Amino acid sequence: MARHSLPTLVAIDGPAGSGKSSVSRAAARRLGFAYLDTGAAYRALAWLVLDRSTDTTEADAVTALLKDFDYSIGTDPDEYFVTVGETDVTDAIRSPEVSAAVSAVARVPAVRGALTELFRSLAANVDRPGVVVEGRDITTIVAPEAEVRILLTASEEARMARRSAEITTQSAETVAEQLRSRDRADSQVVDFMSAADGVITVDSTHLDFEQTVEAVIDVIHTRTKRALNE
Ligand code: C5P
Repeated sequence: MARHSLPTLVAIDGPAGSGKSSVSRAAARRLGFAYLDTGAAYRALAWLVLDRSTDTTEADAVTALLKDFDYSIGTDPDEYFVTVGETDVTDAIRSPEVSAAVSAVARVPAVRGALTELFRSLAANVDRPGVVVEGRDITTIVAPEAEVRILLTASEEARMARRSAEITTQSAETVAEQLRSRDRADSQVVDFMSAADGVITVDSTHLDFEQTVEAVIDVIHTRTKRALNE
């Protein structure tokens, strides 16, 4: 049955460099939906772990930091920000140091449990008719009941090329190696390379940005119409 009181949930998963964040944000903007970037929370916690000089491989120490994790994120696609306490970490969480530390933080079960609860609560409380939530385990763990569930993929070659065009401060080889090792570490924890039952795959390898946004919006329209009729 379609839900009436809660916002329409659009869950989008995929590997790094699939275009997930920019495509999800653009789709949310066009639909008048909110946008929730879940990777930002894992990154913000990794930033706090580094800021406190905590060892990322010490699961207990990382878990202990959760109680100091005063995290906030903008869910308006036009006003994106991430803060921890009083500190604006919107740019800092994209640093190579945070990218290298985040997988170790994200594999701690207590961290995943706490952040999953946080994402569910943030998604349920947006002041828009819907919300696009993107990450690695949204279609499977965070919101398996979402009206729309999409896996956004692209060939490894395309993902590496896109990411190295975005990051101009490091060589293409360095960017590719970091992306590969992060995907390897992340895929030991959640499977975001293959679509779970009922999840629609959008392969953006041969699509440009605009075509990918349109493909995602098409899936959203088709699935929400179906959900309304159920
Ligand atoms: O999406 P993004 O690349 O910013 O995610 C950063 C990291 O956060 C990932 O490499 C992964 O370790 C973790 N993550 C996760 N589950 C999510 C979203 C992100 O484990 N739903």
